Amino acid sequence: MGGRLFVMTGASGVGKGTVRAKVLERTRLFYSISMTTRPPRPGERDGVDYYFVDRATFEALLREDGFLEHAEYVGHLYGTPKAPVERALARGEDVLLEIEVQGALQVRKKVPEAVLIFLLPPSLSELKRRLVYRGKDAPEKIEKRLKQAEWEIRNAHLFDYVIVNDVLEEAVADFLAILTAERRRTPRMGPALERALKRDKDLEAELDEILRRSYGGTRD
Ligand code: 5GP
Repeated sequence: MGGRLFVMTGASGVGKGTVRAKVLERTRLFYSISMTTRPPRPGERDGVDYYFVDRATFEALLREDGFLEHAEYVGHLYGTPKAPVERALARGEDVLLEIEVQGALQVRKKVPEAVLIFLLPPSLSELKRRLVYRGKDAPEKIEKRLKQAEWEIRNAHLFDYVIVNDVLEEAVADFLAILTAERRRTPRMGPALERALKRDKDLEAELDEILRRSYGGTRD
């Protein structure tokens, strides 16, 4: 049984990165590093946050069918390189993608058994508050992001799970609960079921001996 694909989506500013970092600290998941044509922000590292490439490099990989999904988002291309994800799944590892809505819906089509999780802000006004205090965006960009967020929230019904990121630790606990539930689905529990049916002759011989001594009338 291969690994499972988990996709996390949510509006800009909702706290996907923070939730993801906490989840990765607490469970084994292969995080897929996306490729993008967006220039790095201060502090971002190539090969850690993203693979930062030019448009020609991105389009060359696209022509080779090298992406599991891709999308254009506020003027830049973003995509999930297919090979590392397929290798991790084949090794039996669960994989996490953190991508926007269009990409998540492409994954749904290509990998119907993927688990789609939508991270929701408590409200659009709270999202606006977070964007304002983050101090990264000009006022007109904030309105654009809010419009985008509204559209994304209206598409949340296409996802399997919704988590409200109000209290961070609660959102992380919800995420881990979903992972655990998906990992306990019967088809993934095959090895445990097989183990449960095995009988250990030596252990049982010892137990039989105890039984014999207790109930066999040989007690002195
Ligand atoms: P940012 O530029 O703020 O890092 O990301 C912008 C948006 O692109 C976020 O919603 C992020 O989740 C999304 N994104 C990041 N990587 C990918 C990807 O590989 N594919 C798609 N479809 N979206 C991505």
